Amino acid sequence: MKTQGRGRLLLVDDIKANVKILQLNLKKDYDIDVAFDGESALEQVAKNPPDLILLDIQMPGIDGYEVCRRLKHDDNTKKIPIVFITSRNEEEDETKGLELGAIDYIIKPFSMPIVKARVKNLMQMKKQQDILENLSSMDGLTGIPNRRYFDLTLHYEWQRAMRTETPLALIMIDIDFFKKYNDFYGHVSGDECLQSVSQALVSSINRSMDFIARYGGEEFAAILPDTSIQGALMIGEAMRQNVKKLRIAHKQSLTADCITISLGIANIIPQKENGQRVLIEGADKALFEAKKDSRDVCRIFSAEDMMDLCG
Ligand code: GH3
Ligand code: MG
Ligand code: MG
Repeated sequence: MKTQGRGRLLLVDDIKANVKILQLNLKKDYDIDVAFDGESALEQVAKNPPDLILLDIQMPGIDGYEVCRRLKHDDNTKKIPIVFITSRNEEEDETKGLELGAIDYIIKPFSMPIVKARVKNLMQMKKQQDILENLSSMDGLTGIPNRRYFDLTLHYEWQRAMRTETPLALIMIDIDFFKKYNDFYGHVSGDECLQSVSQALVSSINRSMDFIARYGGEEFAAILPDTSIQGALMIGEAMRQNVKKLRIAHKQSLTADCITISLGIANIIPQKENGQRVLIEGADKALFEAKKDSRDVCRIFSAEDMMDLCG
């Protein structure tokens, strides 16, 4: 999910002169990386994912077909368009390349204007694809990840925590008396409030692996990998205070004179595949306690309670 400004192009060919001529002609319009064999092409992609790859087929070691096959089998790289650029011009070679998932096939010797035009079209396509992907994973109002993105991330972090046997924490966050706020101040102010609160929440997390999303309406959820219950409670407290510090007036609140949030926190070391529902249930129960108690508080769901849920 990228492509900002100039597109990034990876050129792969074991014959350096081929790479040079392409680089010379394309560097004005794109940021260019080069690789002279399959192995380093895969490394380059992992290090700095390009928007498009021009890939030679015949190379010593891992050939172009194999590079393509591996990239198309990896969720992280399968969406990067690949163009084979090769002197193999048999029908079956081209068919094989396209069947492996390549988007196009250019035969050497090539015409530079045609290569340039194709690269331009494909870069355009990639850019649109990235925009669409971005739209469907981000919340339109607050600009932070949406529920769909949250579900994918929780699934991914759950599997990872299970492999590494590390604790995974979840914080469920809900704005207090938000219906009264909307009714009293109007829907537009309600929307602005949601934007400010989401920014205060984002500013409360500090590790790059931490993730926060709009879970629904006036609810948010944070996923904190490799985080103890104490660690998660610290983050939750920071969130609660940062939202309060916004000092958004809320005359109708029965808790304070400004907007506040309630938080439910749970954590677990995942044991079984796809068990993330338990973590959500734990955080939900803790949130329910926070609402019941007084609101404007963090409540945690203890490890033993969690064991009961796992049942
Ligand atoms: P509690 O303290 O128990 O959480 O009460 P509450 O009023 O916050 O909870 P409730 O679930 O009853 O109401 C949530 C309200 O959130 C309902 C709706 O008016 C408001 N809301 C949900 N999504 C949006 C939105 O996108 N924009 C605006 N402006 N309001 C929203
Ligand atoms: Mg709610
Ligand atoms: Mg609420």
